[in-house]
Amino acid sequence: MRGARGVEAADSQVGTLSMLTAGTSSSGNFACTTATQRTLRDLRTKRKGQPVYVVGHVLERKGQEATFELFNVRLAVVKFSDGVLLGYDPGELLLPTDIDEKGVAEFEIRQCQQCEQQFPLTTEELNAEKEPTACPECR
Ligand SMILES: [Zn+2]
Repeated sequence: MRGARGVEAADSQVGTLSMLTAGTSSSGNFACTTATQRTLRDLRTKRKGQPVYVVGHVLERKGQEATFELFNVRLAVVKFSDGVLLGYDPGELLLPTDIDEKGVAEFEIRQCQQCEQQFPLTTEELNAEKEPTACPECR
């Protein structure tokens, strides 16, 4: 007769990866765009590795995604996927619209129809019936 089997291993604890919520940088998550924060400059805590979308002065890097590394005097140094490091004004680094549970940043960038600046949408704006056509400053 077989003895009772031991307690079955509890279901593995997958799925406990906490939801990445916007703006909770203090708890270890990266920030997403919200109504009050759209660029790296708006973040009180700028975490290394924060995904950003570059709209700055370097033409060949414009529109690329990068991650924030550190501050060098007043410039935010970001790292591109090819390993290149460049410094930007933190206002030139847009935040992602969303970050999925795997940590992949999703950027929904639009151009303002009034001032032609690029700006990131919040998830609410992305899911709204009508996306905003003007950047926050022009609204
Ligand atoms: Zn505008």
